[in-house]
Amino acid sequence: MNGLQKILLIYTGGTIGMKQDRETGTLVPFDFSQILSEVPELKKIVCRLDVHSFSPLIDSSDVNMEFWIELAGIIEKNYESYDGFVVLHGTDTMSYSASMLSFMLDDLEKPVVFTGSQLPIGKLRTDGRENLISSIEVAAAVRSDGHPMVPEVTVFFENILYRGNRTTKYNAENFRAFKSVNFPELAEAGIHIKYNVAQIRYPESWGHPLWVRKNLDNSLATVRLVPGMNRKMLKGICSVEGLRAVILETYGSGNAPTDSGFLEVIGELTSRGVIVLNVSQCPAGCVDMDAYATGRALKMAGVLGGYDSTVEAAVTKLYFLLGQFADNVSVKRYLCKNMRGEITIM
Ligand code: ASP
Repeated sequence: MNGLQKILLIYTGGTIGMKQDRETGTLVPFDFSQILSEVPELKKIVCRLDVHSFSPLIDSSDVNMEFWIELAGIIEKNYESYDGFVVLHGTDTMSYSASMLSFMLDDLEKPVVFTGSQLPIGKLRTDGRENLISSIEVAAAVRSDGHPMVPEVTVFFENILYRGNRTTKYNAENFRAFKSVNFPELAEAGIHIKYNVAQIRYPESWGHPLWVRKNLDNSLATVRLVPGMNRKMLKGICSVEGLRAVILETYGSGNAPTDSGFLEVIGELTSRGVIVLNVSQCPAGCVDMDAYATGRALKMAGVLGGYDSTVEAAVTKLYFLLGQFADNVSVKRYLCKNMRGEITIM
C-alpha cells in the first residue's frame, strides 16, 4: 500500500456500527468514534484515514433517493482531496446503493468500496473488522503506474471484491452475504489481495473530472410475476398516473403468461409509451425473449430485454435514466447499453 494514500470512510449505519440497546435488546446504531475504538488495528493502517458520519445513521432499509443524493454529494465534495472512499452501509440494500452510485458517479476514476457486516463490529466473531480493513486496503491500492487499482464502485464482503452493480444480497445468515452470479469477482483477499485485473473497468484515458448526476426519478413500478396473479391488481398498478416504466420480473429466460388478459395490460403500457423492462427472477443467466413463445409474446408487445441484469441494477439504472431524460425514447436508448459494466451484451 502507498503510505501517502488518503481514504475517506463514510459511515452511513447498518449492523457494522450497531450495538445492543440495553432496554429493548434490539440492535441500534452507535456513534462512529466508538468504531475506531472497537478496531484499534485501524490506527496501524499506513494511510491517512478520515471519517464522515451520516446524521442520523440509518438502517439500510430506510435508504431512499435523498440518501443516495447525499452520499454522492459527499463523494463529490471530497473527490479531489481523497484517493479512495469506503462506504460503511447496511447489507440489506447495499447492492441497490452500490448500483445507484455506479450510475450517478460519471467518469469515476477513484475507488468507492461499499462494505458492512453480518455481526456488529463489537462482537467477538464479527466479520466487520476484516471487511473494514480489507476494504480500506482495496481503496488505497494503486497500480505500478500510480493509478488506482480498482477505480469502480465495488462491494467488498467476506474476502471477495465484487463489481457493485452485479451484486445481490442472498444470505441473511452466512458471512458470505453477497453473490455476483453473472460476473466474475474483481479480487480475492487471502494472504495477499489478488486482483482480477482483466475484469476491472479502467477509463480509456485518465484525468477526466467527476460528474455527479443527481437527477433521479422513481416513476417506476416493479412487478414480480407469480402464477395465478390477479389481473385486476396488475391493471391497477399499471394504470397509476405518472408511471414511466415497469420492471417485469419474469420467469426463467424472460418468460411470462400468454393469456390475452395479461398481454393486453402489457400492450396498453407500451402503446402509452411506458417502458417495460424484462428482468428474470433467475439470478443466473440472461433474458432471451426469442427462446420460448412465452417470451416472444412479450417482445412482440414492445417489452425490452434486460440482459443479465440484477433487479437492483435494473431499478437503479431506470431511476437514473428517468431522471436524466424527460422523454422515454432517450431512456430506452441508454437502457439497452452497457453503461457501467452492469450487463453483458454478447
Ligand atoms: N438491517 C441492517 C441494514 O441493512 C442489516 C445489516 O447491516 O446487515 O442496515
